[in-house]
Amino acid sequence: MRAAGMAEESSHDHILNADTACLFALEFNKNPIVDDEAAFDLYAAPVATNSSSLPRRPPVVTIMGHVDHGKTTLLDSLRSSSVAKGEAGGITQHIGAFSVSVPKSSSASSTSPSSEEGSRSITFLDTPGHAAFSAMRARGARVTDIIVLVVAADDGVMPQTREVIQLIKRESDKIGLVVAINKVDKPGADVESVQSALWAEGIHLESMGGDIPSVEVSGLTGQGLDQLVEIISVLAEIRDVRAEENGPAQGFILESKVLRGFGNTATVLLLRGSLTAASHLICGTTHAKVRHLTDSSGNPIKRAAPGSAVIVSGWKELPQVGDEVLQGKEDEVKKALANRLRKMKIASTLNDAEVINATRRAERERKAEDGVVEEESNVMSPTGPKALRLVVKGDVSGSVEALVSAVEVIGNKDATVNVVSSGVGEVTESDVMMAKAAGGMIVAFAVPVSRLADQAAAQNGVNIYSEKIIYRVLDEVKERVIDLLPKIT
Ligand code: GDP
Repeated sequence: MRAAGMAEESSHDHILNADTACLFALEFNKNPIVDDEAAFDLYAAPVATNSSSLPRRPPVVTIMGHVDHGKTTLLDSLRSSSVAKGEAGGITQHIGAFSVSVPKSSSASSTSPSSEEGSRSITFLDTPGHAAFSAMRARGARVTDIIVLVVAADDGVMPQTREVIQLIKRESDKIGLVVAINKVDKPGADVESVQSALWAEGIHLESMGGDIPSVEVSGLTGQGLDQLVEIISVLAEIRDVRAEENGPAQGFILESKVLRGFGNTATVLLLRGSLTAASHLICGTTHAKVRHLTDSSGNPIKRAAPGSAVIVSGWKELPQVGDEVLQGKEDEVKKALANRLRKMKIASTLNDAEVINATRRAERERKAEDGVVEEESNVMSPTGPKALRLVVKGDVSGSVEALVSAVEVIGNKDATVNVVSSGVGEVTESDVMMAKAAGGMIVAFAVPVSRLADQAAAQNGVNIYSEKIIYRVLDEVKERVIDLLPKIT
């Protein structure tokens, strides 16, 4: 492809395009972040400043604590009590989260409108080992509004209890805390010593004159569960958990799997906006046009509201747990997807190159140790590697250097790249002659080809590959190197 109209002036203060800048960043082991998803800028902004005018949403709650302190049992009891209170015969399937409704009397202190009052509920994250929670945290996402720290009354503060305390202390302004002192039904339960141990860790419970709410529970007998739900609900009110209900959806993946009859499905924890069938979503490098929405009881729903978890079908490929889901218009999603795939390709090209480079370096060192003088790759040898010989011309010296070092590491022991000449500026007649003498081709990276060079190339059968997108150059070079490889018969 010959790029027309690329005779833009080059200078040292030339503005790099996104691809070149990405390549440079990766060359220097930096992680490039290209802001090319303007369509999703909406979410770069903090929650609306006048958030008190937004509707309330159910708080998202995570249960954490030391192993064997009763997290799973507590979640099971909460889930089954919600099913028992729900419609007859409702069987909750495990989808990564479930919803518990808050009895109306619990919100007596609420001053909110009665329409909100009636729909009060809590969404509990229910993921094994909090895998999704950790994955989301690792990506800097905040999905939990409230943490329930479970401490067994017969065991007290243990290492993982301390880990959770550290986490809460770091994020105390963003996450609310309720302590559930569990297993109070056990004969060896010692609530007071747990309270004192927590005080010593800086967790000052209300029951001891501090400000952190706590409740004595038994996941096994169900004791204290209603009170726990009530405390969470009050805390959510105090923390004023709200979200836009009508804008485009934003959420995170809790689970993903292939379901018979539904294809690729994923549980989306919706944090903002609402989801309906036929919405277009992007998540990582996959996308969906929503086909079905299903709640945790397996019931089809028309619309999912913020603060709820919903199974979404219609994914092109299974999304990854913990990845962010964003809704956009069809063309916005397509564009953002193309950008993400492009970035991934650049990164993987360089990774490939790094691997090949390291292998070559090791090979060279081994040969040097053996006293073998390495053969010049551009010397034709019936047994040596075949080389794709290139004359590289680019718009600025930085991009030429980056391109040369990226193409030079493409190849293996059978076929390599040999840059015979490189420089800045348009492709000239002498570049064509150089390529002809070397039996190679010309790469014109974001530079024009002079008329004389064009004629000379045609007369001498020299190929000129013009391109201004770096990953396409790398792809082209790779293809041509692959063509040099011995054919398997
Ligand atoms: P997790 O590792 O924190 O999820 O803990 P589990 O929920 O698996 O509970 C560990 C053990 O403690 C299991 O044998 C439970 O039956 C038991 N257990 C959990 N909660 C209670 C409780 O409230 N009372 C009693 N007596 N045992 C409990």
